[in-house]
Amino acid sequence: MPVSQRAKSEEQFARAMKVIPGGVNSPARAFGAVGGHPVVIDRGEGQYLFDIDGNRYIDLVGSWGPHILGHLHPRVMPRIEEALKKGTSFGAPTLVETELAELVADLVPCVEKVRMVNSGTEAGMSVIRLARGYTGRDKVIKFAGCYHGHVDSLLVQAGSGALTLGTPSSPGVPQGCTADTLVLEYNDIEQLKETFMQMGDQIAAVILEPVVGNMGVVLPEPGFLETVREVCTQHGSVFIMDEVMTGFRVALGGAQQRFEIMPDICMLGKVIGGGMPVGAYGGKAEIMDVISPVGSVYQAGTLSGNPIAMASGIATLECLRETNPYAELESKTRRLTQGLCAAAAKADLPHTLAECGSMFTLFFNPEKVTSYAISAKNDTARFGRYFQGMLDRGVYLPCSQFEANFTSVMLTDEDIVHIIQAAEEVLQEIG
Ligand code: PMP
Repeated sequence: MPVSQRAKSEEQFARAMKVIPGGVNSPARAFGAVGGHPVVIDRGEGQYLFDIDGNRYIDLVGSWGPHILGHLHPRVMPRIEEALKKGTSFGAPTLVETELAELVADLVPCVEKVRMVNSGTEAGMSVIRLARGYTGRDKVIKFAGCYHGHVDSLLVQAGSGALTLGTPSSPGVPQGCTADTLVLEYNDIEQLKETFMQMGDQIAAVILEPVVGNMGVVLPEPGFLETVREVCTQHGSVFIMDEVMTGFRVALGGAQQRFEIMPDICMLGKVIGGGMPVGAYGGKAEIMDVISPVGSVYQAGTLSGNPIAMASGIATLECLRETNPYAELESKTRRLTQGLCAAAAKADLPHTLAECGSMFTLFFNPEKVTSYAISAKNDTARFGRYFQGMLDRGVYLPCSQFEANFTSVMLTDEDIVHIIQAAEEVLQEIG
């Protein structure tokens, strides 16, 4: 399925650029890092995306993670349609909110109580306030290369190796907002212990992605998550796992289940809404009850717990619980990643591949990526050529080297063969 032309996409994207900054409603969608203009999507179906020129692509983005079941899943769509008939929003309690909360509490090990919000960013903003309110402390540890939404206090530039006292990485974020954010290197156990030794009694929380997706896929080294758990317990700090990407993705109960490490609070997003705007945060009841109206830490939302979004989330999680597709999805993903590695080796290209369940990144970097400092050494120009070559062959990849690819249950063996063949051709071309 070679892509013939994208004339309509070009024309319509030019139109979008006149009225939408950069033509996109989220910068991750722009093709800034890979060149050219984004494809304008018309519709999705199963494992495929169709652009407005009628080209078909195998989708390895899945709306950046939510679509583990693929597009238009027959178990999900009827539930959304049913919910739509009742009205779109009431701003009052509904049954579906309790149903989704019960499902989440049942599936995610650390969750006793959960609050629904509308995005991962909102979840990030809320958990930081909650942890500070609960502990009465201000400092928060995050790790270079982890992304927790565009929350002012967490938008801190990646430090090199040393502990960096927050420098805002976006204009518009005042120094004051990041003054209490400490940026450490992911997987650096010694640095973490040292920081806690120096100022443990001031640290409200440690926040991390248990498997990082936002500097490409980076796995926690053995002992890293365990150490975070240990120091947080010792010093009375809140351990926040950002499972927006990994939740219901790397295992039904998320990374906390896969690695058997219990955080105090976790953030959820993406899969929990099955493609509708849902974020959530949940954990120990004792901490969650510090949130208003039980406690005094304020957090609110006109559309939070939206019934259409809840219906989509319930249908998605119920389907995942009943079908338990994780082992099969993981072995399918492994077949794909092994093929990609073989293609890169055949083309004699320096590479390394990191994967966890149905998320993976092929890095154009021979060194194992364990931190942002290493991930930053990637050959991003080569990645840009790889991306374009794959797009021309009908494979839709994330448009940055520093993102995760996501597979869905809909991906067939035929699709896998197609992707590997395309990669063999492209990697030879760009080698
Ligand atoms: N946390 C993580 C780990 C994420 O990957 C993302 C989004 N990619 C967010 C938070 C923010 O979520 P949202 O884009 O829904 O605000």
